[in-house]
Amino acid sequence: MKITKTLFYKDSYLKAHQTKVIKIEGNRILLEETIFFPQTSTEPGDIGKINDRKIVGLKKEGEEIWHILNKPSVFNEGDTVNLQLDWDKRYNMMKLHSALHLLAGVFDARFKERAVAGAVKSNLAYLVFKHELLDETIQKALDQANKDIEEELEIKTYEDKKRKGFRWCQVGNYIPIPCGGVHIKNTKEIGKLALKEKTTETGKQKLTIEMK
Ligand SMILES: [Zn+2]
Repeated sequence: MKITKTLFYKDSYLKAHQTKVIKIEGNRILLEETIFFPQTSTEPGDIGKINDRKIVGLKKEGEEIWHILNKPSVFNEGDTVNLQLDWDKRYNMMKLHSALHLLAGVFDARFKERAVAGAVKSNLAYLVFKHELLDETIQKALDQANKDIEEELEIKTYEDKKRKGFRWCQVGNYIPIPCGGVHIKNTKEIGKLALKEKTTETGKQKLTIEMK
């Protein structure tokens, strides 16, 4: 088992990088280092290019991150290749994902309401709560989040001191949340948050938000 060095944790703004091909299996390729974030259950994965070949997906297998190409690989093991990230897609995802951290932090700190799930789906993101929230609470939380965005809160990410590979994310002074995702550095990058939709299913409430 090889270890793919994940550069997106050190620098989530890294858009291009040069690295070496380690292994090839059909249309999948293993690299020494990667700038591409593999999808999780809560964040979409990256797309981009290795030289002029499109990456259509990523697959994490243990410590290995495999890059799936749209065609069989033309590379050889040992080749030096250029990685190019689809930055627009990634940046949008980082902003929405970080916005969820902020909003979940506000709900927890101001209203003692803890989100039980949350995810980014394309241009939208959502939080799920165990029960229905008052409209007034939702509005106040969004107002507070937008105020925090204007106040340019720092977003910190760090590895757990005891558990190697286990990561945390904290927005301003809000509660730190365990998270292996990629984040922006400051809330100001989010712009403005708005409620897109509010739905209730089997007693749980889902708040879908968008960036304006
Ligand atoms: Zn996160």
